[in-house]
Amino acid sequence: SDVKIGRALISVTDKTGVVDFARSLVEDFGVEIISTGGTAASLEQAGIPVKPIERFTGFPEMMDGRVKTLHPKVHGGLLARRDSDRHMAEAAEYGIEMIDLVCVNLYEFEKTVAEPEVTFEDAIEHIDIGGPSMLRSAAKNNRFVTVVCDPRDYDRVLGEMRIHEGSTTAGTRRRLAAKVYARTAAYDTAISIWLNSYLDQEASVDSDISFEPPEEFDLHLVKSQDLRYGENPHQAAAVYRFADEFSRIGSSQSPLIGAEQIQGRPLSYNNLLDADAAWNAVREFDEPAVIILKHQNPCGSAVAADVTRAYDRAFACDPKSAFGGIIAVNREVPRSLVEHFADRNKQFVEVIIAPSFEPRALERLSKRKNLRVLACGGAEGHARIEARSIDGGMLLQSVDTVSEDISEFTFPTTRRPTDREMADLMFAWRVCKTVKSNAILIAKDGAGIGMGPGQPNRVDSALLACQRAQECCRRMGIAPTGLACASDAFFPFRDNVDVLARHGVTAIIQPGGSVRDDECIKACDDHEIAMIFTCRRHFRH
Ligand code: 5GP
Repeated sequence: SDVKIGRALISVTDKTGVVDFARSLVEDFGVEIISTGGTAASLEQAGIPVKPIERFTGFPEMMDGRVKTLHPKVHGGLLARRDSDRHMAEAAEYGIEMIDLVCVNLYEFEKTVAEPEVTFEDAIEHIDIGGPSMLRSAAKNNRFVTVVCDPRDYDRVLGEMRIHEGSTTAGTRRRLAAKVYARTAAYDTAISIWLNSYLDQEASVDSDISFEPPEEFDLHLVKSQDLRYGENPHQAAAVYRFADEFSRIGSSQSPLIGAEQIQGRPLSYNNLLDADAAWNAVREFDEPAVIILKHQNPCGSAVAADVTRAYDRAFACDPKSAFGGIIAVNREVPRSLVEHFADRNKQFVEVIIAPSFEPRALERLSKRKNLRVLACGGAEGHARIEARSIDGGMLLQSVDTVSEDISEFTFPTTRRPTDREMADLMFAWRVCKTVKSNAILIAKDGAGIGMGPGQPNRVDSALLACQRAQECCRRMGIAPTGLACASDAFFPFRDNVDVLARHGVTAIIQPGGSVRDDECIKACDDHEIAMIFTCRRHFRH
C-alpha cells in the first residue's frame, strides 16, 4: 500500500540541497511542487516549476508570513486517510488535494537566540508555527505521507523512490516521522528555555522570592557568640545575629543561630557553616531524609520510610567521607538512629542537627560528651536571605530553594524517564543544589551514591561522581545500571553525557539552555538516556 508521491509541499529556511531535491522530484518522478514565498523564489530561479502556496490554498500569505500554510487545504491534504471513503469524500467536497510529501525545515530559532544582540521581538518572530504544524500533521499520517525535516535525508528518500517506483517504504516513513517529533520537541524546548531565561533576566527576582534588596540599610548585627577562632586557628572570629532591621526584610531569623545546643563542645566557625548547609539541604525534603555533610558537600544523602533507614542509606553512600561529618535529619531523631551511627558504624560525628530529639536518643547521645547536638525546632521560619562578604562590602540574595516541579520541566529526549527514574531524578535534583559547583550528583533508589563537587570543568565533576557511584555499587553488591544523574547547570558539551552513559546512568536532570543542547539531546538518544530540562539552575559557589 505504498503511496506513489504525486504532490510535494516544500517550505524550507535552510535551502541546502533543496534545488537538487526538487529538481529530481519533478524531472525523475513527475511530482507537482507547492511552495512558500522564499522557497518558491529559489526553485523558480533554478528553473523548477512551482505552484505558489497562495494558488494552492486560494489565500495569500499574510500577517508578515505568520500565516502561510495554516489552511485546511494544506492540513486536510496532509491528514486525510487515503483508505477512508469518508475522508476522501470530504476532501472531494471541499476541493482538498492530497499532499504526499512534506519537506520542511524550520525558522532558525536556536541560531537566532544564540546571537548576542538578539531582541525579544526578533526572537519571537523566529518561532515557526506553520512549519512544525505541517511536520506534525505529515508525521501523524506517516502511513501515507513522507515527511522530510533534515536535508541529509533528501538523497535517501530519492534513492528509495527510485527503487520503489516513486514510493517510499512504510518503515522509512515511520523513521522519518519519529525524527520529526524529536525535532519539534527539541524546537519547542529551545523556545521554552529561552522564554524562561528571558524572564529571569527581566526580573532577576522571580515569584518565589520574597524580599527586595534594599537601596540602603544599616546592617545591625549583634554579637551572639565568640568563637575560639575562624576557619583556621590563626583567624579571629565571632558569630553575629542579624538585628531587627534585617529580620524584617527576611521572614524571620535563622533558626540555626536560634537553635538550642543541647550538649557538646562549643560550635566552631566551620561547624556552623557546615551545619547551616546541612540543615538547608535536609529541609528540601518532605519525606524522612538524612544528609551527611562534610566540608560543605553532601557526601551522604537519602530518603526512606523513616529517618533511621534514611541514615543507614546515607551513610552507605560513602562511609569514608562520612567520618567527621555533620548529620542533618528532618524529623525528630529516634534512639535507633543514634545507635546506628554511634554503636554500629562507630561514625565520628562533629554535629547532629534536627528539629528535635527523643529523650532516649538524648540519653544515648549524652555518652558522647563532645558531640554537638543542635535542636532547631520546626522547619518553618527559616532564613530567606543569605549574605556573604566581599572585599569592601557584601552580597545579598534570597536563599536557594528547589521550588520548581514537574509541570515546568521539558522532556527533550526520545525516551521519557520511567517512574522509578523520575523519583531518583527529583531526589538528585534536590540534593544537587547543595553540592558545590560544578555539581554532579548520581542517585539510585533515593540515595546519593556518587557526588562530583567543585571541579572547574563539568566533565571532571561527572567523572568523580561516576567513580564514587561505581565504588558505592561495588560495596553494596548492586549493578551500576539504571542510575539517575543531576547536574546543577547545563552541559556545555556532549562529553558529559558520554561519560555518564559509560557508567550506567540512564536518566539525567539538568537545566538545559546550552547552545549545544541539541548535541546533548542527540548523545542521550544515542545512549537511550531519558533527559529532563528543568529550565532552572542551582549554582552554589
Ligand atoms: P519561505 O522561505 O519559503 O518563505 O519560508 C519557509 C519557512 O516558512 C519554513 O521554515 C517553514 O517552516 C515556514 N512556514 C511555512 N508555513 C508557515 C506558516 O504558516 N507560518 C509560519 N510562521 N511559518 C511558516
